Order: sequence, then C-alpha cells, then structure tokens
Amino acid sequence: MARYTGAVCRLCRREGQKLFLKGDRCYSGKCSLDRRAYAPGQHGQSRKKASEYGIQLRMKQKARRYYGVLESQFHHYFEIAERKTGVTGENLLRLLESRLDNVVYRCGWASSRPEARQLVVHNHFTVNGKKVNVPSYLVKAGDVIAICDKSRASEKIKAVVEACASRPKPEWISVADTMEAKIVNLPTREQIDVPIEEHLIVEFYSK
Ligand code: SF4
Repeated sequence: MARYTGAVCRLCRREGQKLFLKGDRCYSGKCSLDRRAYAPGQHGQSRKKASEYGIQLRMKQKARRYYGVLESQFHHYFEIAERKTGVTGENLLRLLESRLDNVVYRCGWASSRPEARQLVVHNHFTVNGKKVNVPSYLVKAGDVIAICDKSRASEKIKAVVEACASRPKPEWISVADTMEAKIVNLPTREQIDVPIEEHLIVEFYSK
C-alpha cells in the first residue's frame, strides 16, 4: 500500500505533461506546469537531447505516475501483462485501467486519481455489494461498483460527485445513476485515452 508522498506538481513538470494529480487546480491558472513549463531542479531549464533509453524511461515513468503506481508494482503489472495473450503494452494499460482507484476516478467520483485512492482506502466503495478498500483491486467485466450506503449521505462525497458530474465517462463503464456503475467490458486500447506510447515501455523492460 506504499505510495508516493512528495510534491506531485514536480512529477508533471518532470514529464512535461499534465498528469492531473490535483483535481480542480489542474484546470485552473494555478497549475504549476502552466506557470513553469520546464523540468524541476537546478538544471531543469537546460536543453539536453534525450537518448533512446531516456525516452523509454520517461514514458515508463509517465505511465507509473499517471496511475500512481510505484516501481515494484508497475514491474509486477508488466510481468502479468507479458504472460497474458495479446499485445503486452495493451495488456499493461488494461491492467492499470482496471485498478479500483482508476475506476472510481473514471466514474466521476473523485477529482483526481490520488483522491480516488484515498476515498477507496477510507472504505467508501463496494464491489458487487462487498466493501473493498484496496486501491489496486482489479475489477472484472460485469462487476458492479457503488458508493456504499453510508457514504452516499456524506456531504464531502456528494460535493465531489456533483463537481465531477460533467466529466465524460468512458464507454467501458456504464454509470447508471450517479452512485453506481457497471463494468461493461475491460477497455480496448481505443477506449483508453491516455497520452502513453506503451510500446516504449515494453522496449524499456525488454532490454
Ligand atoms: Fe500537474 Fe495538476 Fe500540478 Fe498542473 S496542477 S502540475 S496538472 S498536478
């Protein structure tokens, strides 16, 4: 259950791309990347040509940070993806998308993936009627994810759900009402809208 606890805006600046880790702030003029669009640190503004390895490494780090997964777990997902039939890179993204914290974010029940993770840990969701507080829990097609009865009355949860109501929901999740959703199918690559070139990650781990 370990997680990154440092400054998250640094991560976006390092990757040169918005990773949307801070909810509303990411869409406001306060976004650090909008204000300082260069890598953090003393040499952040110096220009260096990235090597092939450097490009692959950055893509792997970006994917990891996008989904809030530490290195050991990310590598574990890669090993599972490699063993599955099909394209390894797509399998990897599908696994990451299947995480319960990501699904909660996709359903519009949290303003960012880190917030979704926290809400999951705090026992606000059920999967097929049973409480699940493990962010890395992998959902399956047909699973019903819901905000648990007690949490539905919480002002905080109601405010988050209302604030995120207009965010588009992915095709692979059917959000029937604002408090319950069903996994229609695990996503195909076309249904995963992340700025990640997964083949670079596969090349990185294949060295
Ligand atoms: Fe990234 Fe959001 Fe911070 Fe902007 S505000 S740098 S998108 S975490």
